[in-house]
Amino acid sequence: MSPTDDGDPVTFADLGLDPELLAALTHLGYEEPTPIQRESIPPLVGGQDLLGQAATGTGKTAAFALPILQRLVGSDRTDEPLALVLVPTRELAMQVSEAIHKYGKGIGARVLPIFGGQPIGRQLQALRRGIDVVVATPGRAIDHIGRGSLPLGGVDMVVLDEADEMLDMGFAEDIDAILAATPSSRQTILFSATLPARINRLAQRHLTDPVRIEIATPSTAPGEAPQVRQVAYVVPRAHKAAALGRVLDVETPTAAIVFCRTRNEVDDLTETLNGRGYRAEALHGGINQEQRDRVMGRLRGGTADLLIATDVAARGLDIDHLTHVVNYDVPSAPESYVHRIGRVGRAGREGVAITLAEPREHRMLKNIERLTKQKIAIEKVPTVADLRTRRMEVTLATLRESILNDELDDDDGGLDHYRVVVESLTSEFDLMEVALAAVKLAHDASAATGTGDEVDIPDVTLRPSSPQDRGGRDRPPRGDGPRRTFDDAKPGAPGKPPSGDMTRLFVGIGHDSKVRPGDLVGAIAGETSLSGRDIGAIQIRDHFSLVEVPESAVEEVIGAIRNTTIKGQKAQIRRERDDPRATR
Ligand code: AMP
Repeated sequence: MSPTDDGDPVTFADLGLDPELLAALTHLGYEEPTPIQRESIPPLVGGQDLLGQAATGTGKTAAFALPILQRLVGSDRTDEPLALVLVPTRELAMQVSEAIHKYGKGIGARVLPIFGGQPIGRQLQALRRGIDVVVATPGRAIDHIGRGSLPLGGVDMVVLDEADEMLDMGFAEDIDAILAATPSSRQTILFSATLPARINRLAQRHLTDPVRIEIATPSTAPGEAPQVRQVAYVVPRAHKAAALGRVLDVETPTAAIVFCRTRNEVDDLTETLNGRGYRAEALHGGINQEQRDRVMGRLRGGTADLLIATDVAARGLDIDHLTHVVNYDVPSAPESYVHRIGRVGRAGREGVAITLAEPREHRMLKNIERLTKQKIAIEKVPTVADLRTRRMEVTLATLRESILNDELDDDDGGLDHYRVVVESLTSEFDLMEVALAAVKLAHDASAATGTGDEVDIPDVTLRPSSPQDRGGRDRPPRGDGPRRTFDDAKPGAPGKPPSGDMTRLFVGIGHDSKVRPGDLVGAIAGETSLSGRDIGAIQIRDHFSLVEVPESAVEEVIGAIRNTTIKGQKAQIRRERDDPRATR
């Protein structure tokens, strides 16, 4: 058992979970509950309603998924859903459903994601076969309720996940209608990254005497956080290991700890980094004391320079030549960020804290900035060209050092040893040619320990900040109502250029394909780093639609929509001004 930051020993076993669920968590390499899990699981297992403030990255999915699965263990299983999870986007529907499937494998939980853009027939078939947990986007849930294919009479638990996003996307009425189709005796759980007034109104309508769990307002005094250069890189999950390699090549740490969330992630990343020529050692709760001593010995002795660790395993470690702390994922609580980076920048030494964030995790970065009262600079992952330049610099510095050392050194075991080779070659070739070939060999030999990874990593920008992120209390213009369209915003507005930094895109799908604003928002928010609230006005015409998105995200949106389907169809997408039909 390991102590938490406030000294209370809490493990997953302390939270009253079934042994099969505990086994699944161990198998996934989770070592301890995150703060939101510690606080939410006991009241949820106890049957209480809950209003929780938690952003992506805090572990909120397991915070509601484990109590749902625990309820399933104790229930008389029927073929009708016991729990319904409503989420704003198809991407989240798939993620949440995969997570519940993973946690509930041992108890045979049947989970189904249902969202627009997927043929309804497959969903109908799965629903008929019998399902325990449905994870749905509101639009598609309403479709199924209308067809009578989603029986909600046996639903005992309902989760509204990322509720603020769902309201932003104009789903308030759909949520009300869906909840009206569930028994009033149900347990209701609402998670939202922000808790503005309209979320409280939604909670008042649907929750009964809920437990409120909010991430406490940061109380750290300014200056308490260590003075460390803090940078973050926004990287899609699939490119994280490559991005880390690039960043390490440029930063050249003397010694670094790379924090991961799970044991499995520690093992995978250690293997990947060693495969790429780094000297990395793994440290997690599954490693015994003897191995641990060996790892620490290698790190202190300089035969390893990267320690890949979980928070639990790294507690109490003190490595004094540590120069860099890397968060391979954004930590699940801002406080643990502060603990982690406190390991560098001690005693006036320089330290660097690097965070790799996935596009959806920007809120966690904002929370951390608020707690530390320090800015985290978002930097671009070094490109292949940056890396080449850096490697050239390293080669140049190495050769220079070799020449200088030789000048200082009197014994003749130095460079003079090779004179015979150079003299022999210069009888045949120009001296410059000989030097170039030698430099190339030296360069290739030193680059062999780099990433060797020449694939470009996509440049993903963070979502533009929302009013809440800028300190605003609520989001006035859209309220709880449906999304504004050009038509209801301003008659005849389609020809008018979009406002500010927004760009209007032409999407070749319209009323004739029964597309609705929610489908377009769902597709864009589900496939890109944008959230529902970043998307501007939407106009649907018979054969096409116009959607405003931030200019900075245009290429990302075009790329993503070209690779996906909307309402089951491939849709053309391009900037509006390229298309004469769109401005008619
Ligand atoms: P979420 O905030 O639910 O999107 O979760 C963020 C990530 O944290 C997911 O990749 C989870 O698999 C992971 N995660 C959730 N709970 C834990 C835990 N207790 N320990 C380690 N990783 C976790």
